[in-house]
This record gives sequence, C-alpha cells and structure tokens, in this order.
Amino acid sequence: MFRAYAIHLYSRLSIIRHRMNPACIFCKIASGETQANIVYQDELVTAFRDIHPVAPIHVLIVPNKHIQSINEVTSDDEQILGYLFTTACKVADMDGITEGGYRTIVNTGSHGGQTVFHLHMHVIGGQRMHYPMG
Ligand code: 5GP
Ligand code: ZN
Repeated sequence: MFRAYAIHLYSRLSIIRHRMNPACIFCKIASGETQANIVYQDELVTAFRDIHPVAPIHVLIVPNKHIQSINEVTSDDEQILGYLFTTACKVADMDGITEGGYRTIVNTGSHGGQTVFHLHMHVIGGQRMHYPMG
C-alpha cells in the first residue's frame, strides 16, 4: 500500500519536474525541490500557503505546468484555468471559509502587481475583505 503510494507520488513529481522552469520558485515548490506548506496537490495543480499571508487564510494555487501569466495562456490551457477555480472551491472547503466567503485574485504583469511569474490564484479569506479594489 505504502509502496504503491510512494511510486505514484514519485511518478507525479517526475512529470511535474519535466514541465518545470528550473529558475521558477513556484515550479520548485510544485516539484518538491523547495519546501512549502502544501495543502493540496494532484496531477494538475499544487496549492500551498502564502509565505506572507495578508489574511488568516491565504493559499496560492498554481498549475504544475509552468505558465508565466494570463498573457501566455492559450486555448490548450482552458481546462487548467477552470480547474484553478474547482481547486479554490476545494481549498476553501478544507479551510472552512466557504460560508463566510473569500476573495480569489490573479495578478498579471507589473501594473497588476504580479511578482512571481508563474500563473497563480490567491485564495484569501478568514476575515471580511476591504474595498475598494485597485
Ligand atoms: P503576486 O504578487 O505575484 O500575485 O503573488 C506572489 C505571492 O507569492 C506573494 O503573495 C508572496 O508572498 C508569495 N510568495 C513569494 N515567494 C514565495 C515562496 O517562496 N513561498 C511561498 N509559500 N509564497 C511565496
Ligand atoms: Zn514556474
């Protein structure tokens, strides 16, 4: 049982490593090369706690495949883009913020405030969010 799980995990990490950008911190987290507090992972995505949380719950969801930002997505990525939302729903449920609500953010480029150039969705909750945005 444990051996089967270990083989499954090893093969998933090998696939992620194959598609990663060696200079990218989020690729390194998804592939297990760099440590992070991972709350969920499967073949397509990795979700982990933000190192500088802005609210009691602050999780980042990244595609395991390196995509720089929304500017680089193609129609081939439509499944993974939708899957980021499905995963946000899962993460919110696991962290108990479904009912209270939460904010999902994808920053793009310098005006968008993107600092890590591997597409990611922030899931932020556990308190009432502030307005206005922008
Ligand atoms: P952005 O500003 O690009 O939308 O968000 C990047 C986020 O990644 C920031 O909230 C930042 O705190 C987080 N971050 C940057 N480096 C690391 C890291 O090495 N580990 C984790 N867990 N989060 C990181
Ligand atoms: Zn990357």
